[in-house]
Amino acid sequence: KAKQQGRNAYEWYTHAFTDTVSERMVLRNDLQEAIEREEFELYYQPLLNRFGQLASVEALIRWHHPTKGWISPARFIPLAETTGQIMPISEWVLNRACLDMQTLIHQGSEPVRVAVNLSPLQFHRANFLATLRQTLLATGLAPELLSLELTEGVLMNNTQAAIDTLQALRDMRIGVSIDDFGTGFSSLSYLKDLPISTVKIDRSFIHEITHSRDDMAIVQGIISMAHHLGLNVVAEGVETEEQHRRLMDYQCDIFQGFGLAKPMPLNALKVFMASLAATHETTE
Ligand code: C2E
Ligand code: MG
Ligand code: MG
Ligand code: MG
Repeated sequence: KAKQQGRNAYEWYTHAFTDTVSERMVLRNDLQEAIEREEFELYYQPLLNRFGQLASVEALIRWHHPTKGWISPARFIPLAETTGQIMPISEWVLNRACLDMQTLIHQGSEPVRVAVNLSPLQFHRANFLATLRQTLLATGLAPELLSLELTEGVLMNNTQAAIDTLQALRDMRIGVSIDDFGTGFSSLSYLKDLPISTVKIDRSFIHEITHSRDDMAIVQGIISMAHHLGLNVVAEGVETEEQHRRLMDYQCDIFQGFGLAKPMPLNALKVFMASLAATHETTE
């Protein structure tokens, strides 16, 4: 039996190994073409506040490959980060998100804040702030309608350069959230002195929140500490009503998840916003 297991493990290993290397090479080339041909699209996932009103939307990139169909950002973003291709992709995302929000406004929708995910590479670039200012200027989007999502890892070194950049963003009235909070082996204490506005609790803690006592304690702890530090709290990955209720009890501020709304194209977002606004007009 041991031999059998060992053999299977070996076969799995070689298969996964060759698959990874060749797949990555193919994907890298495909990605280059995707950048040139702009095969990307932005989807928007609504975030709702405690009253069920729209708090903001998160821009999430989608890649439609001409022959392979949809490829998940969880697969190509990490690759693009190692190859540097993340830079042109990120510029495209930022510009598209700002333009899309302007389109909504011009079509008569209420202005809504859009959150864009930042790559560490992008954040640490010397010309990052200049590019950002340029994009806002070119698209005409009000800076307070933009917020940026960073992961813990980006800020963990706590370098003066990173703090200066965050301060500059705050001065510009651009929001900053810590994404996937709790997965980066760090504590809230390092956030104490950073000019950020929001923490987003990673969905791995939300998933078991109604069953796992550990996760209940972790989530309650994060929320109460974040509130003491004056930060807003978003729960990611809210899929069930039970999870939503529990998070309401814990005084969570903002909710994001398939149970409330899935990521959707811009035109669907427009419809979603209109129907949400109509609901609130009739119930209030
Ligand atoms: P993220 O920033 O944490 O984004 C949230 C992810 O959780 C999205 O996956 C979203 O579709 C998914 N999600 C939302 N609600 C639920 C739920 O209730 N259940 C489950 N199971 N999942 C939920 P997505 O769009 O596949 O993106 C994956 C990651 O790829 C993002 O995680 C982000 O790190 C990265 N990413 C996506 N778009 C961009 C982008 O434009 N730029 C950069 N740098 N990274 C991006
Ligand atoms: Mg995010
Ligand atoms: Mg997240
Ligand atoms: Mg996450």
